Amino acid sequence: MFQMAHMAPTLAWAGQPRDDKNGATTKMESVSMRVVANLNICQGHARCEDLCPEIFSTDAIEGKVVIAQPEFPAELEEKVRIAVRNCPEGALRVAKGGKA
Ligand code: SF4
Repeated sequence: MFQMAHMAPTLAWAGQPRDDKNGATTKMESVSMRVVANLNICQGHARCEDLCPEIFSTDAIEGKVVIAQPEFPAELEEKVRIAVRNCPEGALRVAKGGKA
C-alpha cells in the first residue's frame, strides 16, 4: 500500500514567507529598481535633469546624461518614471534588479 505520511503538503499563500524543511525562511524582499541610459542616443537635452534633478544631471563637456544614483529610492520612482517618459530620444529606461 502506498503511504503518504512523508509527503505532507506544504501550505503557503503566494507571496507569504514560509519555512522550508531545512529551516530556511523565505522572506519577501522588495525588488530594487534602477534607471539606465543609452548614451549612444542621449542628445543632452537635460529634460530628465529638469524633471528629476535628484537622479539626473548632464555632463557639461560630453553633453550626455549623468545618473547620480542608478538604484533610486522608492520615493523618487514617480519622478524617475516621468523623466523616463519625457526623454525625447527614448534614451532612458527603468529596470528591475541589480542588472539592467
Ligand atoms: S532627456 Fe534624454 S536625451 Fe536628454 S539628456 Fe536626458 S537622457 Fe539624454
